Amino acid sequence: MSLTHLQIEEILDENRAHECDGYGADHICVRIASIAELPSRFGQFQVVAFWNNRDKEEHAAFVHGDITGAENVPVRVHSECLTGDAIGSLRCDCRDQLETSLKTIGKMENGILLYMRQEGRGIGLVNKIRAYGLQDKGFDTVQANLALGFRDDEREYSSAAHMLDSLKVKSIQLMTNNPKKIEELKRYGINITGRIPLVIPPNQYNEFYLRTKAEKSGHMMTFGSETRLFEQSDLPIVEGMTNEQIGALHQGEV
Ligand SMILES: [Zn+2]
Ligand SMILES: [Zn+2]
Repeated sequence: MSLTHLQIEEILDENRAHECDGYGADHICVRIASIAELPSRFGQFQVVAFWNNRDKEEHAAFVHGDITGAENVPVRVHSECLTGDAIGSLRCDCRDQLETSLKTIGKMENGILLYMRQEGRGIGLVNKIRAYGLQDKGFDTVQANLALGFRDDEREYSSAAHMLDSLKVKSIQLMTNNPKKIEELKRYGINITGRIPLVIPPNQYNEFYLRTKAEKSGHMMTFGSETRLFEQSDLPIVEGMTNEQIGALHQGEV
């Protein structure tokens, strides 16, 4: 069962008047602005659109099943990547991560995907494309990474934490390969009862992960010279990776 019409009306009424001190250093406060049914190729979802008091970015939650007051709800926090998510770019594997999360959640009893509108680790599309352009011109990945910048983690997790509270989830199991994400969400009072590793299926494009190692600066390099930038805050695990390779993923990651 998903949210009924009555529950939706109640939530919208409560959120219309919602005000709080906000989460995190930036006092992020979000409100649920609208809710609708969203049948998808990954199963039956409801989409919940959020307003926030900071950057006016319209974050969204994609909700499967009954989550109100629920315990141990599987949750994925995904950052927007226009080029990967919508267009299928192979410069990153955001789309693999997004599809795998939605497929997994769609098959479960319930679950939530938080879609955070922070393109290119929060620096926006234009700056992300500038970083791509630098790479195309032969700039090394460190320079391109600097141009891409690093996501403001605090802001990301404070919005996500507030969104989960707005959805009245009691406790969650976070779908992530990054233990740091769990710590960050816990800091904002989210009750995390477990972690679900995000394992993406191998295909001709991500097969190179199986042969790569993590570099200190947080990017991966093939044995050739091909490099990729990582736009999601956790590195993917591809089916078939050895424990050693998985263990190496987060070495040196901030
Ligand atoms: Zn609030
Ligand atoms: Zn991407």
